[in-house]
Amino acid sequence: MARILIRHADVITLDAEGRILRDAEIAIENGAIAAVGTAPAGFEPDETVDAADHIVMPGFHNAHTHSPMTFVRGWAEDLPLERWFNERIWQAESVLTPDDVYWGAALAAAEMIRSGTVGFADHYFYMDRVAQVVAESGLRANLVWCAFGKDNGEVGTTLQGIVDFVEEWQGAADGRIRTMLGPHSPHTCSPQFLARTAAVAARLGVGIHIHLAESPGQVAHSLARYDLTPVEVLDRNGVLDVPVLAAHAIYLSEADRAILASRQVTVAQCPTCHMKLGMGVTPVPALQAMGVNVALGTDGPASNNALDMLQEARHAALIQKLHGLDPELMAGDLVLRMATQNGARALGFPLSGELSPGRLADLIMIDCAAPRLRPRHDLVANVIYAAGSADISDVMVAGRWLMRERVLLTLDEERILDEAERRAARMVRGDMRLLRSY
Ligand SMILES: [Zn+2]
Repeated sequence: MARILIRHADVITLDAEGRILRDAEIAIENGAIAAVGTAPAGFEPDETVDAADHIVMPGFHNAHTHSPMTFVRGWAEDLPLERWFNERIWQAESVLTPDDVYWGAALAAAEMIRSGTVGFADHYFYMDRVAQVVAESGLRANLVWCAFGKDNGEVGTTLQGIVDFVEEWQGAADGRIRTMLGPHSPHTCSPQFLARTAAVAARLGVGIHIHLAESPGQVAHSLARYDLTPVEVLDRNGVLDVPVLAAHAIYLSEADRAILASRQVTVAQCPTCHMKLGMGVTPVPALQAMGVNVALGTDGPASNNALDMLQEARHAALIQKLHGLDPELMAGDLVLRMATQNGARALGFPLSGELSPGRLADLIMIDCAAPRLRPRHDLVANVIYAAGSADISDVMVAGRWLMRERVLLTLDEERILDEAERRAARMVRGDMRLLRSY
């Protein structure tokens, strides 16, 4: 594989010391980082990139999304949760086809690459079609086929089909695809189904990605039905005996937090979704103080509406500062670590999310030509509070450019925009003839 030398870069390494390097070199070989600072003596690159006036930093890992749901972006606005689902999302999903999932995920992949994401944890249906998009796009992903434990089968498959999906795709696309099992949530799945899923996950050697404690109503319902909180339901049924990626985790008791801290759990906070749907605030500082790995997710395009991890990092900092009435919360590069290496660890790519020798060459370049990125006193603050995804010019995964000078190299963007918009129109209108009114 090619040897690449990036020169004259300002580098946010996100290494253990949080080093920031100015006018530095990054040497890349066989998809990994060979050196940061100065290239090794005798390093002969096949490609040299001049990164003057650019920041280079690790690429983002989106720890919770439903990428194919781009088709309902802007179709379910300003509604309470029940109407949001029953009148809008379910109506659109009732005509969902595997091809819709492919093109919806392709649109998401184009958006994610443009906004600096290198890996995403995806929770949806027809995930073999999302896997195809991941393989083609060059991204990394951890994919789960969402399950409800219904006797009449899951959406688009059966429980055995989900196991087959895991066995087929785990480690596929040169190791860029990982999988987990995806029971939807403790409030939609029975305890028996959760226990069965946990046993299968342990047998397959994969984790579980699940929605958790999103509303006070869910907690009250769980207490009334089982005399247990949602976290306790997971604990009692063996779910927390395997690695767990828990989305949202907003309404947690002291005991719940202690349980999460004692197990291999990552909490995926989705701050934009939490604000937009009026859900609440994940107790991130308390969880982090107890040692819980906290990552960031966008959630699906129906509830965000962007798949923009730069925006998510900014909101992750702002929401905690406001909620805690404390400007010292989420200081320094903490939210960038949550948006990169903490997510990478949960997705099963522990060598991504840091620019150091031996780590994966998963990186982005941010063009500092825009007035909003000058002066350059504090590069980390500039990225979190001032940069926009349009400033991201280049994206690399495993030493391969997915975007170079703002041009997507692995996806046919024009065709994706066209197909995705046509299909989205059909799904929400139920009638292709109405497309003309778009
Ligand atoms: Zn979700």
